[in-house]
Amino acid sequence: MAAAILVVEDEEPIAEILKFSLGKEGYQVYLAFDGEQALQMARDLDLQLILLDLMLPEKDGFQVCKEVRTFTTVPIIMLTARNSEVDKVLGLELGADDYVTKPFSNRELLARVRANLRRTELNDEDKTPPGHRDRLHIGECIVDFDTYTVTKRGETVPLTHREFELFAFMAARPTMVFSREQLLLQVWGITYMGDERTVDVTIRRLREKLEDDSGNPAYVLTKRGVGYFVRR
Ligand code: CA
Repeated sequence: MAAAILVVEDEEPIAEILKFSLGKEGYQVYLAFDGEQALQMARDLDLQLILLDLMLPEKDGFQVCKEVRTFTTVPIIMLTARNSEVDKVLGLELGADDYVTKPFSNRELLARVRANLRRTELNDEDKTPPGHRDRLHIGECIVDFDTYTVTKRGETVPLTHREFELFAFMAARPTMVFSREQLLLQVWGITYMGDERTVDVTIRRLREKLEDDSGNPAYVLTKRGVGYFVRR
């Protein structure tokens, strides 16, 4: 089944262009022209991805992102006209998985969409025979690759896609230390042009959700001057 994408963009010509180019790739595209409409559609529709413009009337993209994250972990790509580090970092802090800076090329956008859909597509197709993929036990956490969830003492940890992928990648290679550059490449993918601060922001969010005391982490540890690792 075609992945359903919600495009949230108040400038109609841009929204129509996005609808056209995503539609041409076979995606099912829904349009929302303001934040309220976007939230309603995010609740009502079974979406695989949200493209969220930052500059929206009344409720801006940051607010929408924050509210969407209270009920779904669907991948969110922020569209920002401002090439500002502050906006990018704030977007990631609020739970966006990725961002694209306007003006963007069609090719760049599609690459990001594909990269962010990878996980959803894997789930939908479910090509892996049951029981084939392992569950990982890390301390009191279980990483389940079939359902893409992490549970801790039986409770699901509400991770976004990217946070899950980051934790799962490192948890599958316990005690191995990864540089920020390696993590950007492995977890975000080679199409990603983000800077290394993106990794730090995502690690911080991951710790806030996963650790009993995020200031004194027991799972995701820092190797000073090198990068990060997950304890066995
Ligand atoms: Ca706009």
